[in-house]
Amino acid sequence: MNAPTLVAVDVGGTAIKGSVGSGPPRASDEVVRRPIPADDPPAAVEAVLDVVVELCDRSGEAAAVGLVVPGLVDDAAGVARYSENIGWRDVRFRDLVGERTGVPVGFGHDVRAGGLAERTVGAGHDVDDLLFLPIGAGISGAMVVEGRMLTNPYGGELGHVDVAGAEDCVCGAHGCLEAVASASAIARRYTRATGTPVRGAVDVLAAADRGDNVAVQVWDDAVAAIARGIVIYAGLLAPEVVVIGGGLSRAGDRLIDPLRTQVHRLVRMQREPRIVASALGADAGRVGAALLAQRALEAARPASTAITTKRNGP
Ligand SMILES: [Zn+2]
Repeated sequence: MNAPTLVAVDVGGTAIKGSVGSGPPRASDEVVRRPIPADDPPAAVEAVLDVVVELCDRSGEAAAVGLVVPGLVDDAAGVARYSENIGWRDVRFRDLVGERTGVPVGFGHDVRAGGLAERTVGAGHDVDDLLFLPIGAGISGAMVVEGRMLTNPYGGELGHVDVAGAEDCVCGAHGCLEAVASASAIARRYTRATGTPVRGAVDVLAAADRGDNVAVQVWDDAVAAIARGIVIYAGLLAPEVVVIGGGLSRAGDRLIDPLRTQVHRLVRMQREPRIVASALGADAGRVGAALLAQRALEAARPASTAITTKRNGP
């Protein structure tokens, strides 16, 4: 029997990425990338549904759809409660996608789906106590504790723990991890200090490599803050592995090596986690969406088998 065809869609803060694949999801099978309409939540919902339907049509025979979205997400109810970036509230995505496509729908939170992907086929393979920490425009974590992914939609907001940082945060607090160490914060802090516009954190790192002292300081501040955040988490939930994901993980050893050093310096009685870079990078959410599609398909199978048996029976 051929592996079922799965449609996987990952909605980020600014773009919708989708793919069609079969068998174990691969990072390589991306086929669609669309912008999200800004400041127009109903149009954003339609844009997501359009991508899903387009990919189902293109696949010809989609067996299931996986969709993951950012913000406050109720995985169990299938509802996107709220997204600060996109502005939507209480969107019943699982039902909407089911109505449009007629196939089983796996639905969830983008970061938790990324964590599921890293734990299933990525850098945290089979690890029972895992923190997946994507660092991009913001910072939040997927928490696997004793083999179980925590799905509390309010959990994992590591970006807003107080790491004694020097910045006011968009959340209204002062000292948050995200305000110093998100990719956006790194770029913003460098530009504010030097007057030099940069495209992102990667430019700041390049400047640091050229010996730019301000860039070195901004980068070091970010690494120190992430290390503090990890040690706070380690004191509470003692992960065996921390997988760093998101755009900042593209810095590779330039991020991971100093981060390991800083965490090692800061731990006292906490278990020192192994810190590794994401294996799936920016594809983690979409691979996670494909895994959710697979799960939804498996969950739907016993019922459909039963119906088939009944129909074909004497
Ligand atoms: Zn904050």
